[in-house]
Amino acid sequence: MNLVPTRVQLNRPLPPLTYLAPEGLPPGVRVRVKVRNSLAVGLAVGPDPAPPAAKLRPIEGVVDPFPLLPARLRELHAFAARYYGCLEAHLLPLSLPQALLPNWEADEDGQSLSLHRDRGAWGALAELGEAWHRDPGLLPTLLHRPALRGAGFTEVRLTGVPHPPRVTPAQAKVLLALEEAGGALMEPDLLGAAGVGPSVLGTLEKRGLVLRMKRVDLLAQRRSAGADRTVTLNAEQEVALAAVALGAFGVHLLHGVTGSGKTEVYLALAERVLAGWKRVLWLVPEIGLTASLLERLEARFPGRVAVGHAGLNAGERHGDVVRLLFNGADLFVGVRNAVMAPLRDIGLIVVDEEQEGSYKSEEHPRVHARDLAIKRAQLEGCPIVLGSATPSLESWHAAQSGRYRLLQLRQRPAGITLPRVEIVDLREAYRQQRRKVILAPALMQALAETLGRREQALLLLNRRGYENFWMCRACGRTLGCPHCAISLTYHRGDFRLRCHLCGHETVPPEACPDCGADHLRGVGEGTEQVEEHLRQLFPASRVLRLDRDTTRRRGSLEAGLLAAEAGEVDILVGTQMLAKGHTFPRLTLVGVINADQGLKVADFRASERTFQLLTQVAGRAGRAELPGRVILQTYSPEHPAITFALAQDFEGFAASELPFREGLGYPPFTALSLYRAEAETPREAREALESFRQRLSIPGLRILGPLEAPVPRIKDRWRMHLLLKGGRGALGEVLVRHPLEAAGAVSLDRDPLQFG
Ligand code: ADP
Ligand code: ZN
Repeated sequence: MNLVPTRVQLNRPLPPLTYLAPEGLPPGVRVRVKVRNSLAVGLAVGPDPAPPAAKLRPIEGVVDPFPLLPARLRELHAFAARYYGCLEAHLLPLSLPQALLPNWEADEDGQSLSLHRDRGAWGALAELGEAWHRDPGLLPTLLHRPALRGAGFTEVRLTGVPHPPRVTPAQAKVLLALEEAGGALMEPDLLGAAGVGPSVLGTLEKRGLVLRMKRVDLLAQRRSAGADRTVTLNAEQEVALAAVALGAFGVHLLHGVTGSGKTEVYLALAERVLAGWKRVLWLVPEIGLTASLLERLEARFPGRVAVGHAGLNAGERHGDVVRLLFNGADLFVGVRNAVMAPLRDIGLIVVDEEQEGSYKSEEHPRVHARDLAIKRAQLEGCPIVLGSATPSLESWHAAQSGRYRLLQLRQRPAGITLPRVEIVDLREAYRQQRRKVILAPALMQALAETLGRREQALLLLNRRGYENFWMCRACGRTLGCPHCAISLTYHRGDFRLRCHLCGHETVPPEACPDCGADHLRGVGEGTEQVEEHLRQLFPASRVLRLDRDTTRRRGSLEAGLLAAEAGEVDILVGTQMLAKGHTFPRLTLVGVINADQGLKVADFRASERTFQLLTQVAGRAGRAELPGRVILQTYSPEHPAITFALAQDFEGFAASELPFREGLGYPPFTALSLYRAEAETPREAREALESFRQRLSIPGLRILGPLEAPVPRIKDRWRMHLLLKGGRGALGEVLVRHPLEAAGAVSLDRDPLQFG
């Protein structure tokens, strides 16, 4: 076999490296290579026209016989790599887990694919690959390997042993169904198609006519199918359903409060799409809170649902990816990365809670799953539905200006009344009490009444720990993290001062390390302190705190939420993780300890986020027959984010906020690219951005910076920002003309959401 210099992209911050690889190796095939002395999997990207002069190493092996990703998904990778300024190899692990290193078995002629591969018969393999991409059923054995056997999900296939002269009618049905399907089917499908019971398969297997092979699908075993409960859609839901044209690209924004029936619209659409033999990609912001959604999906589409998320172990994820590659699943539910799932023939994409920041990756590559989902829908030529009670202003503006189609569910769901929302002015409370107020009298009284009626209350404070920071009253010094430019938070539970950015912790000192005075005082309360306060005020009540400190163990958040759902908790106190997801039937009081907390952040989205959080948490109250009450404690009762949350008026909020965005030149009116530099010293970080800025030669951009990042140092690295404002085209042009060094100090965050 002839070896030629070939470029290989690794999933590392490196430019493609050049190795010797078989001539004709198709781009998009994974290869195993040695980097220094460790093995890595990379993506072949084609011959290197100008190979380095140094002696080249050969690759260690070819992983795939042909590119595994469907062609449209490869197009999406190429688009995302261009748009976000990353390498396609950085996106590959989002589509194919590293663990997916199959052992290639026989093709239909009994020829080993590995053999073709080892002989370098790329032409033959390319043909097989094309055929497989057209119809993965053609090569059903492709991804089998012994390690995959042993759990759930069985495929049945013909062995090719000649039929004996006599088989029973039931056996004949099975053999015919298999033959019609090209030789192999998943067991449930086969039994359905042949209309027989599983015992027939056992007999056929004993006679050597069929073979049963297990595929991994632990999730399907774990999920129990609940009863299907198909509802009759109301008029608004019908209008929304009819408005989504299947078979053509179109972006739809489905706006309706929680419980207004958005999920039922997605389900009805999915049903139509699946009936037409197309597939559904369904994105959710967090998998931990979707247990009830999965039950609904499994009940409606039994055996056709696969789930992908980071919380699963490798085997489970692997199993679902195998199913996707094999067309074993028609509906794929997942978080952010699922937008890159190797699903074919997509007929519908759903993005629920489209405004959620968790759709954006805060690590390289910093892709936004909602935005990529729109691109993917365009490439697939299918509709996409973005759903939300409080849409992002980007999506809302697009709907207002006609680029997206706006679908609204305005009817209140039956049996649910709007909660009564009130404001408590904390300045007033302070004037009256002349000391720090955690719970103002109005909230305290409402709590007592709620507990007296044996109902539940939820208190939200978006700050964990006991006290926000410690300060010396004598010299004014705040105890800060030695590695980061933020103060340490006091955690009373384990008597530590802790950095919430790098995890650095220390036993609190008795005296000020600077001036020696013993005047250290804690400032600002966190959830831990609120919990303590509540236990003192209501000693007979069961208080449960849920924040990142109490939910470190896997499953503990779910366990806590379930306990609350079962009525085993009287007062829930915690951070924003309480704001969404579960519904508590006896929850009638929601208190927000400090509603304007999020407004103090230097971020043009502070107001939008505060409005979303308050609306979301207010929606927790009074979901069932019991009327709800919401109390917002605030120092700025006149702020629009608070007043519109008070009125639960999303459209009013959007109308008041958008002009500010336009005036200041922020999204959705202008696009942003945030270039970040990190270095050992502030000077290096600044110089890296300065030199980048000086090279910039694209007209029509506004350039801000370099400026210190809001948190100028994290983990001993100094951080600077350079913000580019302009049209998407101009910002894209910057990437083309001024590409970043792969391992340089500067990195790009396109359409940034976090500025910290
Ligand atoms: P959302 O996704 O907007 O939060 P869901 O679709 O989950 O709302 O609906 C909330 C509840 O109301 C669910 O239990 C759902 O089954 C029920 N529901 C929705 N639409 C209808 C309808 N047309 N008729 C009866 N029940 C409905
Ligand atoms: Zn730190």
